[in-house]
Amino acid sequence: MSETSFQGQVALVTGATRGIGAAIALHLAAQGLKVIGTATSDDGAARITAALAAYPGCRGATLNVNDAAAAESLIDAIVKEHGGLQVLVNNAGITRDMTFKRMTKADWDAVIHTNLDSVFNMTKQVMDGMVERKWGRIINVSSLNGIKGAFGQTNYAAAKAGMHGFTKSLALEVAKSGVTVNTISPGYIGTKMVLAIPQEVLESKILPHIPMSRLGKPEEIAGLIAYLSSDEAAFVTGANISINGGQHMF
Ligand code: NAP
Repeated sequence: MSETSFQGQVALVTGATRGIGAAIALHLAAQGLKVIGTATSDDGAARITAALAAYPGCRGATLNVNDAAAAESLIDAIVKEHGGLQVLVNNAGITRDMTFKRMTKADWDAVIHTNLDSVFNMTKQVMDGMVERKWGRIINVSSLNGIKGAFGQTNYAAAKAGMHGFTKSLALEVAKSGVTVNTISPGYIGTKMVLAIPQEVLESKILPHIPMSRLGKPEEIAGLIAYLSSDEAAFVTGANISINGGQHMF
């Protein structure tokens, strides 16, 4: 992939304060895209702006992805500022792990809203512009556990599996318009989300099931996102790409 292939492209990355989203924002910025990375707080947005300071035109922005009206006004502002938005990475996500027996409606709703309803909220605001300009990339960050299920994650696995249905259906609807829609499904990546799992559970229950015997790195996810964002990936659509160290193959 040549660095110049991204010049002038604008990317919006949700949940870019840390972990996978921060790595994606930094990598896309280094490739020459104008990146807007979102945080849920003004302080987080300022930290993203600082992290991207080496890349002119890149910045943080405050956004709760559950808020459709806020998504609309942020995307309107980006389009006004840059004349368009070519790449949307729906990365923001949360977990509220517990068995179904203990799960409340609030635990269910929080995870479905932030991981799945957000994909509608964000994609809805960018799709018409992408179709009009005949070029666009929607990349949804799902999870291995949305494919195979996971103990204590009925809410999270349902939301992440829902992304696949969304991706495949929208990919069909816009396939002739130069817009691709894909999902990636990371396995266990060394971020705050995974490092919150007790060390003994990580060592006894998770690492033994990863053939590479290690967690993935956020930078490895960012490389895949950069590929899917590129012209070179124009024929990849409706796909769900696993990136999990060999943990699950299908
Ligand atoms: P993380 O370190 O917990 O970061 C989550 C990000 O999402 C933060 O930037 C957070 O922003 C943002 N966020 C949370 N709620 C939000 C909301 N309502 N509106 C907007 N942004 C919100 O997570 P991560 O491990 O990097 O995971 C990133 C994505 O990859 C998630 O979708 C996750 O499900 C998926 N994934 C992760 C793994 C893994 O092993 N880590 C594996 C598979 C899939 P604030 O800091 O402002 O709260």
